[in-house]
Amino acid sequence: MGYDVSEKLYQQACQVIPGGVNSPVRAFKGVGGTPVFFEKAQGAYLWDVDGNQYIDYVGSWGPAILGHANPQVISAIKKQLENGLSFGAPTAIETQLAQQVMKMVPGIEMIRMVSSGTEATMSAIRLARGYTNRKKILKFEGCYHGHSESLLVKGGSGLLTHGTPTSAGVPEEFIQFTMNSSFNDINKLQMIFSHHGHEIAAVIIEPVAGNMNLVLPEPEFLSLLRKLCDRHNVVLIFDEVMTGFRVAKGGAQAFYNIVPDLTTLGKVIGGGMPVGAFGGKKAIMEKLSPLGNVYQAGTLSGNPVAMVSGLETLKIIDEEKDFYDKLSARTQQLADGLNALGKKLSIPFFAQSVGGMFGFYFSDNTEVKDYQSVQTGDVERFKKFFHAMLKKGVYLAPSAFEAGFVSIAHTQEDIVKTLDCAEKSLREIF
Ligand SMILES: *Cc1c(COP(=O)(O)O)cnc(C)c1O
Repeated sequence: MGYDVSEKLYQQACQVIPGGVNSPVRAFKGVGGTPVFFEKAQGAYLWDVDGNQYIDYVGSWGPAILGHANPQVISAIKKQLENGLSFGAPTAIETQLAQQVMKMVPGIEMIRMVSSGTEATMSAIRLARGYTNRKKILKFEGCYHGHSESLLVKGGSGLLTHGTPTSAGVPEEFIQFTMNSSFNDINKLQMIFSHHGHEIAAVIIEPVAGNMNLVLPEPEFLSLLRKLCDRHNVVLIFDEVMTGFRVAKGGAQAFYNIVPDLTTLGKVIGGGMPVGAFGGKKAIMEKLSPLGNVYQAGTLSGNPVAMVSGLETLKIIDEEKDFYDKLSARTQQLADGLNALGKKLSIPFFAQSVGGMFGFYFSDNTEVKDYQSVQTGDVERFKKFFHAMLKKGVYLAPSAFEAGFVSIAHTQEDIVKTLDCAEKSLREIF
């Protein structure tokens, strides 16, 4: 497999775009080498500019849950295109998407559309602060909630420290109200609430953490969180930008049966077009302008082309019988197959999945429960595995700290072929 055209395009891109990419993880810094430039995608497959074909496990970082370029979605978008791209005024399709989301996600009584996950989380935090008249927020180390100032924080070493910015350009004053805790740490959570419960506006969490590889919540942890937020009148925000419509029809909140006060959505909700959303309890959502005094807006929010893409995607998911049983079984087949290979070849390896998400680690620590335990994975081995798989036509996320995604278009044969490539790759490396 050659990558000549990709290499040339990457050099050209680097002259005019910082790092040659419009979002950092695409640059292959996590695995080394030159990023692959793509030209076409269909179903479970990607084609790069050099004509190489891949089975895709990135799915545009989640949105492509139906596989790429689903004919029904594409045709609905084409029809909408003929009517114009954007009006900056209300359209019926926005209400239809809102109704469709509310039908599927338990915690959403009212919803507002935005254009990215970052906007959704940023706005949900502002809304929670406006609603509670409190300043502090609590997040968990290793969870990613987009790149707005107050969320670009990493944990400090002490129990109740306020952490430090993870990016230059974020003044410490901007994160003075952001507290950090550890995912799945019940004692620390109780401690923080007993000291600060009355000052916390919102807790924001990825109910299944997918931005530090894949870390599942302990169900007691999520239910304790719900209880503590109720007791202290704190707004519980589930950031389901990744897990929404991904781990179950109603997201992680349906899967774990814990209803948050606010939910943020992104990725799948746009079916590949730029859409984000936040929604939840009516009493909170009514604080948003123009009804209430919490300001939030967007020139292209509710864009009709993007709305059609999302609506058509969600309708297909909603109407297809056993969609999530099928998707979960397929994803589980991949995780089980990888675990079997690890055993067979006596390699410290561990894979797991939930719904259409999976994660794997080159580690014999099967108790992956927080940011610290994810760090026990062998990143050098991951890099070698990534490149060996790429050469065999399997496109994995170019980072050891990202979840993988399976679509409904992935067939059993695709998984079998992937596992065959994985066995060959592991034998090459070890
Ligand atoms: C991707 C992601 C975001 C950010 O969404 P963008 O559309 O990239 O701004 C926020 N939260 C979670 C959990 C995500 O996975």
